[in-house]
Amino acid sequence: MSGTASEFVLQSLERMKSRGLRITMPRRLVLQALDESVQPLTVAAVRERVLESGGHIDTVTVYRILSALQEIGVAHRIGLLDAFAPCRLAHDHQNQQLHAVCEGCGKVFESELSGAQENLATESMIARGFSPRAIHVEILGRCQECGPAPA
Ligand SMILES: [Zn+2]
Ligand SMILES: [Zn+2]
Repeated sequence: MSGTASEFVLQSLERMKSRGLRITMPRRLVLQALDESVQPLTVAAVRERVLESGGHIDTVTVYRILSALQEIGVAHRIGLLDAFAPCRLAHDHQNQQLHAVCEGCGKVFESELSGAQENLATESMIARGFSPRAIHVEILGRCQECGPAPA
């Protein structure tokens, strides 16, 4: 692995410590893989990157680490892509997620989901007696760099 850890990796290690998660080399390598990729990574892609950086890890371990990272809020699963992205927002918000997925370059953009947006999205279900626990909004489209889709 490379010598200097990014801010994301350092902050994530801090959060792991404060949540009682041991900092192991495989966990560090998974964090680094997420951090270094511009696109979200599938479980297989995370494993490949860890192997490339000299670690040894099997698919089940990658899956477990990603689950643990999700639980403490340093990574998110992007359902549309069945892939994982690092969370660079400061606060805990596992139950309120807003992501936009670019169909041009495959990048994912994260933004805060406001209370008003959340209410707007959930009110029709609440009216039907549903009790929401978590809300994950994923928007498909094209980013500013990729521009509008060619006609
Ligand atoms: Zn986030
Ligand atoms: Zn794009």
